[in-house]
Amino acid sequence: MEKKNIDWENIGFGYMETDKRYVANYKDGKWDGGALIDDANITMNECAGVLQYAQTIFEGLKAYTTEDGRIVTFRPDLNAARMADSAKRLEMPVFPEERFVEAVVETVKANAAYVPPYGSGATLYIRPYMFGMNPVIGVKPADEYQFRVFTTPVGPYFKGGAKPITICVSDFDRAAPHGTGHIKAGLNYAMSLHAIVTAHANGFDENMYLDSATRTKVEETGGANFIFVTKDNKIVTPHSETILPSITRRSIMYVAEHYLGLEVEERDVYFDEVKDFAECGLCGTAAVISPVGKVVDHGEEICFPSGMEKMGPVTQKLYETLTGIQMGRIKAPEDWIKVIG
Ligand SMILES: *Cc1c(COP(=O)(O)O)cnc(C)c1O
Repeated sequence: MEKKNIDWENIGFGYMETDKRYVANYKDGKWDGGALIDDANITMNECAGVLQYAQTIFEGLKAYTTEDGRIVTFRPDLNAARMADSAKRLEMPVFPEERFVEAVVETVKANAAYVPPYGSGATLYIRPYMFGMNPVIGVKPADEYQFRVFTTPVGPYFKGGAKPITICVSDFDRAAPHGTGHIKAGLNYAMSLHAIVTAHANGFDENMYLDSATRTKVEETGGANFIFVTKDNKIVTPHSETILPSITRRSIMYVAEHYLGLEVEERDVYFDEVKDFAECGLCGTAAVISPVGKVVDHGEEICFPSGMEKMGPVTQKLYETLTGIQMGRIKAPEDWIKVIG
């Protein structure tokens, strides 16, 4: 298969239309057979549930070309399971998990010409999503839904090396106790836009959200979970019912323990102890791990000993091991890699 003529190293993180997308419709209580289609646009009624009451959920994962030239995705079964959890919380029908994985595989196969080559640093981003489609004006769940998967090639997240970022403690809350912070829903992002625009206007790269009940514990950023490294090389990640369970973060904790022999802890992390950590990173599909060099809390700076020039040594090791597994340079745990072709 001939690759598209794309300048892989310089494409950035944006939407580029690819050839095919997967669509399945839910109507009269059941999903249809689904199909790959050409049209990138969606026509729907002005009163569609998604437009009026934001009934929409999504997932995000990537396809890579491995060192030996295969196209693979990373743990798509966990995205399928997480989307099922999101659907239940927003009173949407679950798209069957096996069908989710098949839809991802089919969509990537159909767009194989857009999967960036090994070594380019670029990847094919995969976006499964689902939304309420029929007219809804009285507040209730929609009766008809569409599940879709599209792909778009994205460039290397870190051009010229992963420079540590500066984040600020946000005055806004991301997720309420017993709310929707643990599901991947568009609504969580809509309300985070003002907070991130404010953070950027103040010169910060990202927000650190604290738990909204007590504002004493670290939760996550708008779209990535935290990991911390203690001065004696333990990996610590916040435990909370209101953070989104990042697949990258869960994989990093496994890699830390089983590949690098490090002690790992998932527990309450109080903001007061952040100053005592040696390294800090943000975990998510987009960047895998972005190093954090500095946290600013209303003018008070916490500078991690790893500094502002490069990733800390333990973060670097975690990054190399996980990306090595994803790119096929390091043997993966069973069932982590789904081979597409
Ligand atoms: C998607 C997401 C993450 C990262 O999850 P991954 O599965 O690692 O990509 C973290 N936090 C939030 C709020 C998210 O929506």
